[in-house]
Amino acid sequence: MRDTVSTDRGYPRLHMIIDGEQIPAAHRRTHTVVNPATAAALGALPLAEPADLDRALDAAQRGFRLWREAPAQQRAAVLLGAAQLLRERQEEIARIATLEEGKTLAESRIEVMMNVTLFEFYAGECHRLYGRQLVRPAGLRSTVSFEPVGPVAAFAPWNFPIGNPGRKLGAPIAAGCSVIMKAAEEAPASALAVLQSLLDAGLPKEVAQAVFGVPDEVSRHLLASPVIRKLSFTGSTVVGKHLMKLAAEDCKRTTMELGGHGAVLVFEDADLEQVLKAMVASKHRNAGQVCVSPTRFIVQEGVYERFLSGFSERAAQLRVGNGLEEGVQMGPMANPRRPDAMERLIGGAVRAGARIHTGGRRLGTQGYFYAPTVLSEIPLSAPIMNEEPFGPVALVNPFRTEADMIAEANRLPYGLAAFAWTSDAARQRRLAREVETGMLCINTTTLSAGDAPFGGVKWSGHGSENGPEGVMSCMVVKAVHEG
Ligand code: NAD
Repeated sequence: MRDTVSTDRGYPRLHMIIDGEQIPAAHRRTHTVVNPATAAALGALPLAEPADLDRALDAAQRGFRLWREAPAQQRAAVLLGAAQLLRERQEEIARIATLEEGKTLAESRIEVMMNVTLFEFYAGECHRLYGRQLVRPAGLRSTVSFEPVGPVAAFAPWNFPIGNPGRKLGAPIAAGCSVIMKAAEEAPASALAVLQSLLDAGLPKEVAQAVFGVPDEVSRHLLASPVIRKLSFTGSTVVGKHLMKLAAEDCKRTTMELGGHGAVLVFEDADLEQVLKAMVASKHRNAGQVCVSPTRFIVQEGVYERFLSGFSERAAQLRVGNGLEEGVQMGPMANPRRPDAMERLIGGAVRAGARIHTGGRRLGTQGYFYAPTVLSEIPLSAPIMNEEPFGPVALVNPFRTEADMIAEANRLPYGLAAFAWTSDAARQRRLAREVETGMLCINTTTLSAGDAPFGGVKWSGHGSENGPEGVMSCMVVKAVHEG
């Protein structure tokens, strides 16, 4: 990798990448990137000025003209080459992600591999972008073809500092688009490492740019430009709605991956040991800062007490610490806003009558640690039952009937992911039909894969990333009728 000069124990010097050039801070404003396990500064990130964004737009326009003509083999070769480089750089990139986001090294390594499998899948999709010919009387011909939509403005958040940039870059590149990515200012070096792997694998320099900045300045500038034809955003529903309004001014297409409030339906006929093992691990992945995190546990009365005590005991035993340390199972929260939000939401729930079974407090004297927390008997009106907590908290309430459980799962405007645990095959089919989400896991927690669409319904957004749908979201359809 270029420019991996270490400034702090393996943390690289920070820059933007515009038209293939590494842009340093120089005269620009900077943002201090912080290690959430220690609150120590890691580096100074340059923030884009309007002239930088105009330069990125100019490069993206040229990049689109170039890349839309690139044959499928060339696009696939870049994606496969980048996947191989990511494999080789796995340890280096995983360490960077843990330094700047806090998650455990094991999770960061998995994130690198998520990108590897996604880029490999997208490389195959480059060869499968078929159109069709319609049956017409002799002398007439109608064809339907797919074309890349144009330059994409893509905004990636901090919670998957490697995986989110991989999704934001991979789909436009497979489709033949150019892309300007603004990844989170809190975790920039991971995003730069993903883009660098694509450039090192032969991606023409004009095709993908990485900028950072004051988020609202960058999104307003890019979305006001007629050069940008599509917005792709992952983040909160509030910010997503704001960006959709900006995109609507110029009728830009959108893919929105927004917030969730993951419902977990645990039925009396489930294998409780299996449920506890899977759900405790899944709940505490990345300290709960995952859009598909299991959050509202809707537990049938017959197993409620056993579930509650089993979950609380296991959560209390988790080893929380610096994600770089061997054996740590949960790292800190990614920034100081998150433990503040935990205090507000958990405090509100307790004042409303909820019981705390474990946790409910910050941990340590440095960094942004918050204890795994289990609450029960939480009134549905408490803010935590309605706002995405995005943290290590499980909300457990008892229900009697399947109908009541499904009604609770569908109560909120969110519809990203839900989980159900039951051995009854007929019930599994009913749940598959009735639960209002973009993704449903029945007796499993595996839902993110290169070949499967990832996305939500209702306030959780629209459009998909990953799968053939991820590439198609960067294409427009054209019907040509010839006489
Ligand atoms: P936030 O809502 O301010 O930011 C969320 C993301 O959007 C960040 O990456 C941020 O840089 C970006 N952003 C914010 N304003 C923007 C703008 N005007 N233009 C472009 N990008 C903008 O809050 P936060 O404190 O970073 O996170 C809080 C909440 O966001 C969480 O509670 C969670 O609900 C949500 N979130 C969701 C995801 C996800 O994977 N869907 C990821 C991160 C955060």
